[in-house]
Amino acid sequence: MSAFDDDLNQRLAAVREQGLYRELRRVDSPQTPHLQSGGQTLLNFASNDYLGLANHPALKAAAIRAVEQFGAGSGAARLICGSLAPHAELEEALAAFKGTAAALTFSTGYATALGTISALLGKDDVIVLDKLVHASIVDAARLSGAKLRVFAHNDLDDLEAILQWAQKRSATTPGKTLVVTESVFSMDGDTAPLREMVALKEKYGAWLMVDEAHATGLFGEHRRGLAEALGVSDHIEIQMGTLGKALGASGGYICGPRPLIDFLVNRARSFIFSTAPVPAASAAATAGIQLVQSAEGKTRCDQLAQLIQQVSDNVGNLKSLQSPNQRLLTSSPTGAASAIIPLIVGAESRAVAAAQQLRERKLFVPAIRYPTVARGAARLRVTLTAAHTQADVTALLEALKSLDAALPDLN
Ligand SMILES: *Cc1c(COP(=O)(O)O)cnc(C)c1O
Repeated sequence: MSAFDDDLNQRLAAVREQGLYRELRRVDSPQTPHLQSGGQTLLNFASNDYLGLANHPALKAAAIRAVEQFGAGSGAARLICGSLAPHAELEEALAAFKGTAAALTFSTGYATALGTISALLGKDDVIVLDKLVHASIVDAARLSGAKLRVFAHNDLDDLEAILQWAQKRSATTPGKTLVVTESVFSMDGDTAPLREMVALKEKYGAWLMVDEAHATGLFGEHRRGLAEALGVSDHIEIQMGTLGKALGASGGYICGPRPLIDFLVNRARSFIFSTAPVPAASAAATAGIQLVQSAEGKTRCDQLAQLIQQVSDNVGNLKSLQSPNQRLLTSSPTGAASAIIPLIVGAESRAVAAAQQLRERKLFVPAIRYPTVARGAARLRVTLTAAHTQADVTALLEALKSLDAALPDLN
């Protein structure tokens, strides 16, 4: 095996050289603002558990009940014999929450994107992606074999030019055109102009898929997502999201019309050929959806908004750490700002050094690098959750201030 090991070690050395080496950090506690890791308590600004539900008693109780009633495993794929009551209950809750006719859940958001896009599109079709969409959507687009076109981030003119091209192409070539965007972008925290995108896709007869991974549970009057906040939910063919972020559990979903869901049950390979999610995960997600819709869900969103405001009032003073969504934080078109606050550092090695320095101050803020973001656009990605306190955020801001002062010296 040594030649095999040598080959991989060489590749890893190349990854290290570029400042792109990643390693797992063991955490010995639940996902809360105070993580136990490596014998230390770290103040956690890395999690996507935006509403602080991952360790919520109601979700834990639902998961435990599901284990007691349905066991630890799910036995088989949904279509074989693994379609259990907790899966059906979750899908009913999701459809009701999002106001769609039906819903389908997958074991992860990643599997959701892969299965859905590759089921809907083939080589005759065109898929049009925002430059910054998540890796799961890029991988899904490639897997589908559809002709791939990318528009500059949130650039409606660029999108329209591509849709014009696709419309011309459709005069001579069969096939559909699908536009895919995120609603709140995962690494920048900014939002897509969904109203204008809906108008464009309708003008050119395309379909629209919106990934609400970072907006579900957070935006809109009923916290359904950015599409609700912008009043366009009913104009989006395919609404996607994850159960693993604000909803506090794990899994992915598609919400939409009944024929879409029936089609995916028949054609989405990551759904068909994969063991059903464990009952505990689905039951916890159902509890997460119920919580989001409750008065407590609203209170948690309001608490989160206050913390976002506290940060946005202060990060503007940082010199070496620029936050491109700062303007957006203070003047969000929906009145709700995203809990994702990127602080652009530039070089990969600088971002790693900056994250290391924060860790020495017992703060856990991840350095996000290529290939998650473009080369040279490495950043610290701060995420806030409703479980943080104002004191937590004050500690963050103090640490960022001294990091900012030290940054020009960091290499
Ligand atoms: C996290 C994420 C996914 C994947 O969801 P998982 O449930 O974590 O697999 C998909 N899209 C976006 C935008 C994400 O941020």
